Order: sequence, then C-alpha cells, then structure tokens
Amino acid sequence: MSSNWKKPLLIVDFCNITEWSHKKILNLQRKYRIVHTQAGEKDGFEKLCFPKEAKKKRQFALIDDKDLLDFKKSIEKGLPKTHRPFVILSSEKESQDLFKYLQKSQVLFKDVLRNIPDPVYAVEYANKVLNNLKGSGYKFDNLGKTWSPEFKYGPGYLNSFEDHVDWQIISIFLEKQAGNIFPYIKECERCNSFYIAKILRKDQKYCPKCSLRTGYATIKSKKDLAKYQSARRSRLKSVKMKKEREEAIKKYMKSGYTKEEANEIWEADQKMKTDKFM
Ligand SMILES: [Zn+2]
Repeated sequence: MSSNWKKPLLIVDFCNITEWSHKKILNLQRKYRIVHTQAGEKDGFEKLCFPKEAKKKRQFALIDDKDLLDFKKSIEKGLPKTHRPFVILSSEKESQDLFKYLQKSQVLFKDVLRNIPDPVYAVEYANKVLNNLKGSGYKFDNLGKTWSPEFKYGPGYLNSFEDHVDWQIISIFLEKQAGNIFPYIKECERCNSFYIAKILRKDQKYCPKCSLRTGYATIKSKKDLAKYQSARRSRLKSVKMKKEREEAIKKYMKSGYTKEEANEIWEADQKMKTDKFM
C-alpha cells in the first residue's frame, strides 16, 4: 500500500508553520487560494484573515494597502464605539493577536494529525467538523445534464482560516480519500514536522529531509546500519586515497620524474607503508 498522494495538504502545511508572520500566512493563503470574501475571490487570495478563536467583529489585515485603509474607514464610520476597531491593519500592534489565535488552532490541528490515523477518531472528528461547518455554504451542485450532484462550497461562506483547514478534512472524506491519506501522515521524530510517508512502515521515524541527511531512508535494521556506515567509511577512504595519490604523483613529476616513474614510486611507498604495519 502506498499513499500516492500528490496534492499538498493545507492542514499539514498549517501545522508545519514555525515562524508566525503575515508573509507566511499570506503565502499559505496564496498557495491554497484561501478566500473569504468577494474581494478575495477577485484577487485569488484574501487580504483579510479571520482567525476562528477571535471575536467575530475583528478582521485582521495581512496587507496594509489603500484599499483596506479605505475599507476600514468607511466601515468603521457608522459603527458604535464598542464595535471598533472592526479591521486591524497589519501595521497596528494589535495584529499580533492574529498569530496568538492561529497558534492556538495549530495546537488543536496538530492533535488531529496525531490522532486521525485511528479510524474511530477520524470518523468522530469528521462528524464534529461537519457539524461545525453547518451553514458554511457547502451544498450539492448539479453540474451535469444527468442527475450527478457534486458537493460544492461557496468560498464566500467559510468564515475563518481554520474553516478552510476543516473544509479540506471534510473534502478528503467526501472524496473517499481519508483511508488513503490519513494513515500516512506522520510526525518526524527529529524535526517534529509533519509529512506524508510514501509507504506505511512502522519503523520510519524521520521525515524525508531528515532521512536523507542521515542515510536512514534505506536502513531497516542495526545490521543494515552497520553495513551502510562501513560502506560509507570505505567510500570516503577511497576518495581520500585517490586525492592523495594524485597530489603525490604531481609532486614527483614536478621534480623531474615521468608519469610511469612517479606511479612506481607511489606504489613502492604504499607497499612500504603496509609492510610496516604487518
Ligand atoms: Zn524531519
């Protein structure tokens, strides 16, 4: 069984964020075309961010541009004092709250990733999410001439950033992909990032990046590890010897020996060295 999963996963990328900055969040929004409003739909990504835990009246701006400033001014003009500020621009210090809320959600989603490979938990969680997303604008669309409804959602109705992550989880269930993908999501024991494993293996502990760095990718047992390390040592040794030989021969040729003579001297030197140690 292999995951064969080519699509990036928003929940995995969201959980792997270690540096909370407007730029990182904006990149994620761009990558997944996360939109909450009609303006966002027009631009292909949202300039305003809606964290789930924040009070609904607060909208956090990821970009400080004239459009948003005008929007803030016009919308706050008619609001009572208790509802202001309605929009918090990224240049305002209160915008740091955004990351506090998103970090809180990350803790929750990390927990989901750690538990979702358990089928019972996965189904329970999906039901909970489906319940929470009620009224978020998802609906059946009849796209074809024949009766073949498709489950669709209106991007204007997913209120928070986290709704988009939740929506992806539900979509994976609706596409009947949950069993294909969730068991393969693992947490690296070295760098703690989440990754999608290619095959299901109990002894895989590290993400592809960390595996590549240590050579653990192809190693299954202690015996294999010893073999790998000894092969690596002899490989390094032969590279080192080749370099030494080249340098020595160059030196001999510089002092007037022909290439053949230089080679002979090198061989003799090596023989002497090994004889000494025998
Ligand atoms: Zn790693």
